[in-house]
Formats: sequence, structure tokens, C-alpha cells
Amino acid sequence: MFRQVILSVADSRVVSQTVKRYGFQMGARRFVAGETLEEAVAATRAMNAEGIAATLDHLGESVRDVGEAQAAAAAYGELQTRIQKEQLDANVSLKLSMMGLDINHDLGVSETRALVETAARHQNFVRIDMEDSTHTSVTLDIFRELWREFPGHVGTVLQAYLRRSVDDLGALSDEPRNFRIVKGAYSEPSERAYPSKADVDDNFVRLVEMSLEAGHYTAIATHDERMIGGALRYIRAHDVPRDRFEFQMLYGINLGSLRELSREGYRTRVYIPYGTDWYAYFTRRLAERPANLLFFARALWSR
Ligand SMILES: Cc1cc2nc3c(=O)[nH]c(=O)nc-3n(C[C@H](O)[C@H](O)[C@H](O)COP(=O)(O)OP(=O)(O)OC[C@H]3O[C@@H](n4cnc5c(N)ncnc54)[C@H](O)[C@@H]3O)c2cc1C
Repeated sequence: MFRQVILSVADSRVVSQTVKRYGFQMGARRFVAGETLEEAVAATRAMNAEGIAATLDHLGESVRDVGEAQAAAAAYGELQTRIQKEQLDANVSLKLSMMGLDINHDLGVSETRALVETAARHQNFVRIDMEDSTHTSVTLDIFRELWREFPGHVGTVLQAYLRRSVDDLGALSDEPRNFRIVKGAYSEPSERAYPSKADVDDNFVRLVEMSLEAGHYTAIATHDERMIGGALRYIRAHDVPRDRFEFQMLYGINLGSLRELSREGYRTRVYIPYGTDWYAYFTRRLAERPANLLFFARALWSR
């Protein structure tokens, strides 16, 4: 409920203009590494020095025209070149809408394919983030197609709040693939998504266990200590090898526990967003936690 309200208020023009004007220094900087690639590279190096890998997100979604989609894909190409050149322990996470999918399906697929092809050439990887539920089927179809062409170099995301995710995972378990399991960050109707946190949490546990059991490389992406504890119990009880999964968290959230997991010898990765188009990402982080909104509102008020 809190999330639905915040995400719909965030759509208003007045709110978005005010937040875009003042919000970076006063709030978004906590969750976004910076507005430039240089800042993202510096944040990646710092995390790598602590034994934590990164996945880099050049922020932006729902581009408006072909030119914007091509510019976004070019920015990702530049990012892949930097990762390769500097031998960063990092891969990329992207959104299909940013690659132009909503304007022209074939354009979105071809821009994404080119980036996955580069990742395969560099022995690296592209994660296709999951957007709202109008994109679920098309994202999974494109993932299946790209996996066939570049197995091991592309992965996607399943959201525990969606009622369909268990079936989606079942349908994609005919061979071991690569999934990130998350709770889900968008505003969704109750016909499609579980409204209660307890149901989402139960489904998260179920998806993580199903994914590990099916032999998928599984990114357990949560800041929730209960989910992490549950996953670790399952992993120990079933002797899941440590190179079959990793823990992931978002830049600026709970990194202390990611560091602890890293020190215990588990694979860990931080999701590092950067770029000037940080508004939508930032509002999703505010919508996840009332305390974040309060903190941000106070900072704006005392400006
Ligand atoms: C690496 C990664 C990639 C992701 N990719 C996607 C994606 O592709 N698609 C998608 O829909 N969602 C994605 N998400 C977001 C995810 O769906 C959740 O919205 C988000 O992770 C919060 O859920 P949680 O599992 O941390 O559990 P929650 O129950 O929401 O939170 C558990 C605890 O974590 C801390 N916490 C959680 N969120 C915040 C916050 N914003 N600020 C401060 N503390 C917080 C709090 O202590 C909270 O009590 C991703 C998350 C991660 C970690």
C-alpha cells in the first residue's frame, strides 16, 4: 500500500520536477554511485578491493525514441569496454525498455543481443533486470532466445511478489540457466502480485530453493536477514557448492552484511547504479521504506 501511494505520487510532474532539481545531493546520492561513469568505476574498484563483485546499471528506463535507445546501448557498450580494459570484477544489468523495446521490439532485441554478444566475447555477462508485470512475458521470451545463442552469458530476474513466478521458473527449468531472485519493486495489482509481505517472503524462499534445486546459478538478491538466513540453511543442508550461487545487494543498503558474507567466503555482488536519469530508481528505493521518505522529506524541508 505504502509503495503504491509513493510510486503514484512520484508520477506527478510537480513532484518529479522538484525532486529532480534538489534530490541528488539530498537523497539519491545514498543509493546512486554518481552521475558519471568515472564515479561508477571508482565505486566498483572500492567494492572489488573488499572482495565484492559489482553489477553496473547505467540508469534510465522507458526511452522515448530510437535515438535515445541507441544512445543508451552505446553507453552500455562504453561501460563494457571499461570493465574489460580495467579488468574490473563486474558485469552489467540493463532494462529492455531502455534498449528501446517499448518503441520497437526488434530494436530492443537487437541492441540487447549486441551487448550480450560483447559480454560473451569478453567472457562476461549481462543481467536483464525485470521491470513491471507488463514486461514479464516478453522479458522471459527474450532471455530464453538470448540464452540459446549465448548460454552462460545472460541471465534475468524473477520477482517473488508475482503469482506467476513459480510457474515461470518451472517452465525455464528444462536446463540450468541463471536467475536473480528478488521480492519485486514495482506497483502491481493484487490479481498479479501477492499483496501481503508474508506471502511474498514465502514465495521468495520457495523460488530460491527451486532455483538452486534445478541447478540454476542463483543470485539471492535481498537485504532481508531472514531470507539470507533461510537460504544459508538450505544451502548447508543440501551441500550446494559455493560456485552455484551468490548474494547480491543494492548500493547504499545493508552493505555491512554483504561484507560479512564476503568475509565468510561466499560470492557477493553489489548492484551499482549511476547516471543522470536516477529519478525512477530513487523513487522505488523511497517506496520500499517509509524511513527513507521521512529522511528525504526532512532534508528537502531544511534546504
Ligand atoms: C541486487 C538487486 C537487484 C534487484 N533487481 C531488481 C529487478 O530487476 N526488478 C525488481 O523488481 N526489483 C529488483 N530489486 C529490488 C527488490 O525487488 C526489492 O524491492 C528490494 O530488494 C527490497 O526488498 P528486500 O528483499 O530487501 O526485502 P524487504 O523486506 O523490502 O526489506 C528487508 C530489509 O532490508 C532493508 N531495506 C530494503 N529496502 C531498503 C531501502 N530501499 N532502503 C533502506 N533499507 C532497505 C530494510 O532493513 C528492510 O527491513 C533488486 C534488488 C537487489 C538487491
